[in-house]
Order: sequence, then C-alpha cells, then structure tokens
Amino acid sequence: MGVASPVGLTPGGCAASHAAMRSRLLQRNLRVDPPLALTGQGMFIHDSNGRAVIDGSGGAAVACLGHGHPRVLEAMRAQMDRLSYAHTALYSCEPAEQLADLVLEGEPGGLTHLYLCSSGSEGVEAALKLARQYFVEIGQPNRRKFIARRQSYHGNTLGALAAGGNMMRRAIYQPILSDAFHHVSPCYAYRDRRDDESDAQYVARLAAELEAEFQTLGPDTVAAFIAEPVVGATLGCVAALPGYFQAVRAICDRHGALLILDEVMSGMGRTGTMHAWEQEGVPPDIQVVAKGLGGGYQPIGGIMIGGRIIEALRDGSGGFMHGHTYQAHPIASAAALAVQQVIREEGLLDNVRAMGALLEQRLTERLGNHRHVGDIRGRGLFWCAEFVADRASKAVFDPALKLNERIKREAYERGLACYPMAGTIDGKRGDHVILSPPYIATAAD
Ligand code: PLP
Repeated sequence: MGVASPVGLTPGGCAASHAAMRSRLLQRNLRVDPPLALTGQGMFIHDSNGRAVIDGSGGAAVACLGHGHPRVLEAMRAQMDRLSYAHTALYSCEPAEQLADLVLEGEPGGLTHLYLCSSGSEGVEAALKLARQYFVEIGQPNRRKFIARRQSYHGNTLGALAAGGNMMRRAIYQPILSDAFHHVSPCYAYRDRRDDESDAQYVARLAAELEAEFQTLGPDTVAAFIAEPVVGATLGCVAALPGYFQAVRAICDRHGALLILDEVMSGMGRTGTMHAWEQEGVPPDIQVVAKGLGGGYQPIGGIMIGGRIIEALRDGSGGFMHGHTYQAHPIASAAALAVQQVIREEGLLDNVRAMGALLEQRLTERLGNHRHVGDIRGRGLFWCAEFVADRASKAVFDPALKLNERIKREAYERGLACYPMAGTIDGKRGDHVILSPPYIATAAD
C-alpha cells in the first residue's frame, strides 16, 4: 500500500466500518486503520490527516530527541556507507564498542559491560537468562525462580510477559507462561498505603511481604527480584517511596539473589538522572535499557551488567549462552551512540529537570483541582495524571466508557499525541495518561 493512498483517517479508537479497512498490516486494532505518520520534525509528527501533532509522549517515552535530529541522521548515514551488518559470532563493530564505552563511562553503580539487542522485551529476556546462567556458573543451579511485582510491565515476549504483572496483557497467554515467576505488591502509595500508615510503615509492610515471599519459595531457589524503578505503562509514572529500594536490595543481598532493574521506559535520562535508580541510591546487578537509548531512531535495547556476573562467566563457561542475529547491530548502535552523545554534549538532562518542573507546575495548576484527577505524579520529563470517577473514594471509571480511547482521540483532535492507558488491571486501578515529551522540549512547547 503506497503512501499516496492513505487508509482510514481516524485516530486509533474511533469506530469505523469494517468494509472501509484497507490496511493489510496487522495493526494493534483490526477495526481501525490509523492515520499514516508521514514525516517528523523536532517535537512534531505530520500525518495523513494533514495535521501537525505535538509528540507529547515521544510515542511511549521513546523519542527522547524528537524527530529528525540532524546529528543522529548523519551518524546513521555514515555508518550505512561504512557497514550495515556483520555477524557477532566473528566480529564486533566500532559503533557498538563506542556505545558501550560511552554508556558505561563514569557509570556510578559498578556496571561494567553492555549487551545490545533490539528491544526492551529482548533486554528483559537477556537479563532473566543471564541471572539464571550466573547461578549455574557459580554452582547454585537450584536458583530458578524470579520475584516480580503485580502492576508491572516488562515486555510482551513470553519470559518478559511472565515476569510482568499486567493481568490484562497476560490473561489469554497464562497457560503458556512459565511458573518460575511470582509476584508481590508494587509500591503504590496513592492507592495502597493505608490511611493509618506512615510512608515508613507502608515500606516496612512491603518489605515484610517480599521477605515472606522469599521464605515461601525457599530463599536459595530465587535467582532475582525484578522491578521498574519508576513504574511506567501499567500504573503511570509511579516512583517508590524513600527507603523502598534500599529495603529490597537488603533482602536480595541477605538471600544471595540478584536485583534486576527494568529501566526500559524510565532510564537513559527520562527521570532527570541518567539512570532512574540513581535517585534511590540503589544500583542493580543488571539494568535493562531500551527506549531512550536509541530514541526511536533504530530498534535497540540492552542490559548493563555488574562486574561479578561477568567474572563468573569469564571464570566459568566463558560466554553468555544467549544471542540474537541482530545484537549490537552497527546502524542501530551508531544511532544510539549519536543519541547518547547529543544528550551528554548538549546537557539535556538539565533541560529534562527544568522542563519537568515546568510540566509538573502546569499539570498541577490546570488539572490539580479537577474533580476527575486523583493524582499527578512523576519525575523528570515523565509525568502522569490518574483519572478517577470520584476523588474521595478513588473509584475508577467504568471500563466500558473506554476513557483512555476518548482521551487519546480528544487530545489528538487538539493536536497532541499522548499515551493513555486503560485502568482496571485488577479491577480497581485507574485510567491514566503519561506525558513524556522529548528532552529537547522548550517552555513554549
Ligand atoms: N519494560 C518496560 C518497563 C517497558 O515499559 C516496556 C515497553 O513499554 C518493555 C519492557 C518492553 O519493551 P519493548 O516494547 O521495546 O519490547
């Protein structure tokens, strides 16, 4: 299908007749042909409806430099001229080596190596498999279980889906998901801290629940605990309370389990520090990154790995029993290298913090007293409004209203692309909208 004959011109979620469906691409929604995104420049996407839409969420917190950044495009072109692909069984490549050096340079948490893949889900799969392999290498093959959190999202491939606690996404695949994954409560103060509890008491309750889960499973059977430092898609920009990740780290250390932090959405500067965990002061053993690594210019993700894991592999079997045809892809690596250089050289983390403070202020001013906004929360340029039918009871809207689809459509009609998520993941979670604009955003944007 050519660009000259655009398919249905309705944004996702609008009713449209089946007969009018033209696209032969398996879209997310088979009942709606979305408009075609034709060109992108800076903060804007121009589409086949003739609209210029501000990319207010950078897709799903992906496009951290916006669209068409000349330096990234030039780096990709130059790499294409030099080399498009070489298999990693025989070769490494310059941009991937340089990317590893840059990302790990001055890394404050003792992470010494980078593995590169093509998406966040692949990164999570790699993290889970590496954790398992690490324990086999050091003579603890009993460690085969993972603890994750309900209301988390770690990706859509089977291992990542099994790790995640997003029941809506898991439901039909449940019978084919591994039983190695177990779930505890997230740290979600807005809804789950009791009125008679202080923050510290709530954190202590969550820590006790995690400790109890270790005891139930058998502490020496657990390979790792995996969590998002700031929960993205499932809850909407929920950071943990102070002390939570310290408590988690202490429990993992006490039982000899690894800590995997999934920073696919919250990492690479999104929350105002290069890594979201820096604000908790708790480095992981394995960190998953993706979206902000390549800013959407190429599909790329990765894991950053602590020294003791690398040493165990080096002293043991000698390599990671895992790999993909497109790992450390030269053009993807060149794009990500340029993205990371721009973030650092242009001091964009300062802008993330400054524009994030402004976004918080504007959201609070405009929506803070709205009778259907229960909570506004976030960090850096990663902000969310949670919608409720009633502020006092925090009751959620009836899912049949499809509030997220309505918000998406209304925002689009007004020239804003945003990232709304359906609520009621376990029957009581609210609808929310994430705003995560590119790091180049200005006050005028
Ligand atoms: N982990 C987190 C925290 C995510 O937010 C996502 C995607 O939204 C993933 C993993 C999966 O990444 P991908 O869609 O690139 O496979």
